[in-house]
Amino acid sequence: MASIPGITLNNGITMPQLGFGVFQVPDEETTAAVSTALESGYRSIDTAAIYGNERGVGRALASSGIARDELFVTTKLWNADQGYDTTLTAFDASLDKLGLDHVDLYLIHWPTPARDLYRDTWRALEKLLADGRTRAIGVSNFQPAHLQRLLESTSVVPVVNQVELHPGLQQTALREFHARHGIVTEAWSPLAQGALLADPAITSIAAGHGRTPAQVVLRWHLQLGNVVIPKSVTPDRIRENLALFDFALTAEEMAAIAALDRGLRTGPDPDALN
Ligand code: NDP
Repeated sequence: MASIPGITLNNGITMPQLGFGVFQVPDEETTAAVSTALESGYRSIDTAAIYGNERGVGRALASSGIARDELFVTTKLWNADQGYDTTLTAFDASLDKLGLDHVDLYLIHWPTPARDLYRDTWRALEKLLADGRTRAIGVSNFQPAHLQRLLESTSVVPVVNQVELHPGLQQTALREFHARHGIVTEAWSPLAQGALLADPAITSIAAGHGRTPAQVVLRWHLQLGNVVIPKSVTPDRIRENLALFDFALTAEEMAAIAALDRGLRTGPDPDALN
């Protein structure tokens, strides 16, 4: 079974660099998908309150027989629950659905700048961290301006910012901001939901290594230092997306993928979503 490298976060804890995402997986299908992922060797699972499948994740975790301290579970606070007290209540609900007494990482799902509540929300996450109910706290979909504003009001730096990132949207400025502040970049939709897998630049690199396009894209992320959380409900793909640690892309291949950057957003604009 492949050994997944760990990334040390700015509070000293370690997170697997490769995890398993469950966005758009119905709750009743989630248990089977997460169980397949855990049997294949994934130990990090990324869910969110809004996905409606925290119970399905929890069932798979409970039946896996894997020790809690070998698992890394992330969930996220939904936009409508932003605010200090509402965050604490929403966190309790997530933990109850997951059937856990703590999570490893709790994220603010979107900044929703028009609500102007992410700093109050962050204070609630700081309390959850201090109380040991989550081992780390972070954000998702924050642009540099949102991060800057948050950093001005707190001494607790988010451990990660989970953002849309793939060869069509490489987030160079944001990644530089993260590097300056000790924030790990976590890539959501790392495969652009499949949109780039037929690109000739990627298929030709894949053919050269005897690998699939998805493996090439995920390997590119790992070599950039990103945490990745590909999603699949297909057992063969779940295993394929884990087989990334016995080949490497050359500097020329990395450069060829860098050239695919074109501002391709598949999800919402974080400045506009509320
Ligand atoms: P991904 O980029 O992971 O792509 C998933 C799609 O690609 C599915 O249709 C899947 O098909 C297909 N796929 C997976 N593996 C392969 C493969 N080896 N070959 C060909 N096709 C493949 O998209 P997601 O949007 O799901 O992003 C991943 C995770 O990121 C989410 O599940 C979620 O945890 C997180 N996320 C976070 C967001 C946020 O706002 N913080 C927003 C969006 C996602 P199939 O399942 O049919 O096999």
